[in-house]
Amino acid sequence: MRCPDCNKFVSLELGDVEDIEVNLRDQRAGGGLASLIVEARIVRTCQECGTELKEASFEMEADATADLTAHEQNCMKREYESSADLSTSERSEGKGRGMKSFYGVEGDAKIVCACGDEVGEYPVADEIQASAMEEMV
Ligand SMILES: [Zn+2]
Ligand SMILES: [Zn+2]
Repeated sequence: MRCPDCNKFVSLELGDVEDIEVNLRDQRAGGGLASLIVEARIVRTCQECGTELKEASFEMEADATADLTAHEQNCMKREYESSADLSTSERSEGKGRGMKSFYGVEGDAKIVCACGDEVGEYPVADEIQASAMEEMV
C-alpha cells in the first residue's frame, strides 16, 4: 500500500504484539464460568519509515472454571494474577493471485495464585485476514 509519510508504495512489516491485557472474569457466583479474557493488538508498519499503517485487535477467551474450582478446594488465599505470553503469527493460504494472508497472535495465558501455585495454562490464538485489517491512515 501507499505510505503517507514516504509517499510511495511500500512493503509492510509485522510488529510485535502490543497492548496485551489479561483479565479474569469470574462469574461463578452467578452460576456462570470463570473465563480468562486476553486482549491484544497487532500492527503492520511501513518497512521504510516505521509508520503504523494497519492494525487489528483481538479478544480471546479461555475457560478456567474447572481449574479454579479444583484449586480452591485446597487453597483459601484465592488471589489470582493472570498474564499472557504472546507472539505474532503469520500464514498464507492458496497460491498466486488467489493467495490469502493471515496475521494474528498466538501463545499461552496463565493464572497464578498468591499461594504460589500455577492454577492453569491456556493456549490462545486468533487471526485475521490481511485485507480485513483496519487502515490507520
Ligand atoms: Zn513510510
Ligand atoms: Zn492458591
